[in-house]
Amino acid sequence: KMSNQSWQARREAAVVNGVGTLLPVFIDKASNAELWDLEGNRYIDFASGIAVLNVGHNHPKVVAAVQAQLVKFSHTCFQVTPYPGYVELAEKLNALVPGPTPKRTLFLSTGAEAVENAIKIARAHTGRSGTIAFKGGFHGRTMMGMALTGKVVPYKTGFGPFPGEVYHLPFPADYLGVTEEDALHALDLCFSADIEPSRVAAIIIEPVQGEGGFYPASPRFMQSLRKVCDQHGIVLICDEIQSGFCRTGKTFASEYLGIEPDIMTLAKSLAGGFPLSAVVGKADIMNAAKPGGLGGTYAGSPIACAAALAVLEVIEEEQLNQQALAQGEQIKAGLQRIAEHHDCIGQIRGLGAMVAMELVKARDADQPDPDLTKRLVAEAGKRGLILLSCGVRANVIRFLAPLTAPTSVIDEGLTILEKSLEAA
Ligand code: PLP
Repeated sequence: KMSNQSWQARREAAVVNGVGTLLPVFIDKASNAELWDLEGNRYIDFASGIAVLNVGHNHPKVVAAVQAQLVKFSHTCFQVTPYPGYVELAEKLNALVPGPTPKRTLFLSTGAEAVENAIKIARAHTGRSGTIAFKGGFHGRTMMGMALTGKVVPYKTGFGPFPGEVYHLPFPADYLGVTEEDALHALDLCFSADIEPSRVAAIIIEPVQGEGGFYPASPRFMQSLRKVCDQHGIVLICDEIQSGFCRTGKTFASEYLGIEPDIMTLAKSLAGGFPLSAVVGKADIMNAAKPGGLGGTYAGSPIACAAALAVLEVIEEEQLNQQALAQGEQIKAGLQRIAEHHDCIGQIRGLGAMVAMELVKARDADQPDPDLTKRLVAEAGKRGLILLSCGVRANVIRFLAPLTAPTSVIDEGLTILEKSLEAA
């Protein structure tokens, strides 16, 4: 087997520059919350491949479901000759996602595609073109995904101009110093200065901002947003691609906010590592597009649907919402303990296991420390812990361990984190 270093050299000679890499170690195998590289080094996984592995790596149920499907058939394209798995999974999601029935589901492959299609559907339903999104938000790397994304660096730099009539408002989170009143005022201003509400097809919001820094939205603002959307016939889209499937201790983060979206976008942990995304929502809205207008060659692949059906079983059987709440408490308590000896730890926040920790220069000054954040991620990698950062100020460490991770592995990760912080 070749070393990480030699693979990294080959990677640099073969793969584009625009795809960054957090930790240049080449993975050989994984199990639940652990990874091993080609050199045999072990890593604790606090990233889950960016929120994809809520059920852990290689969950036996997911593996068995995929193997069983693979030997039957791997692809037909649902638009050519359909198969039961797609329908069964749609039925399950229609029942699982909060909101009035009847619902309909569309499958795609990636999160960005789910976002694109949610906007297409909202436009087809309303006959309008405008969209409102939020500062600091992230919705993917396709053209419309970038247009909706409010976090400019690095996602949008050099790629404009962007399509659509998109307006960005301040994200309503007390953590960001944006009150419900501020956010509503900004919405009013947008309606009076930029676009008539009657020209807005959709408002898209992450109930908990992911890439933006793990900020839960204010429930009161979300309830006001729901009213505004109802009043003007605007489609409310909750992007739960990162926050969904038990990460927050509820199946969907929206459940904390006291609102039901018209449409939800889902991906990441939906299929436990297989590329699958979904748009789920009210039937009258979802059915607005004509046959042929939606889909894709690989959209809702039979293998990914089989994996997702297994994931939904695991969520029930292993009570992942419960696990997320317990893991979140364990991580927060551990971080608070570490913070007693480290002034560079600022705010610790989160919903369930969607926990974040800010790194600051001095606890009182609240000066973000993006350099320390970078150094911490690198030091943790050297010591066998995969950490992810995020945030508009690039100073947030986000915790995204598999919800199935044993408490001993979480504790081990926190110990490595403390040592890494001392070295950073
Ligand atoms: N929306 C949210 C909230 C996300 O967190 C992401 C991915 O990080 C996306 C959309 C894009 O998903 P994908 O990378 O699968 O296209």
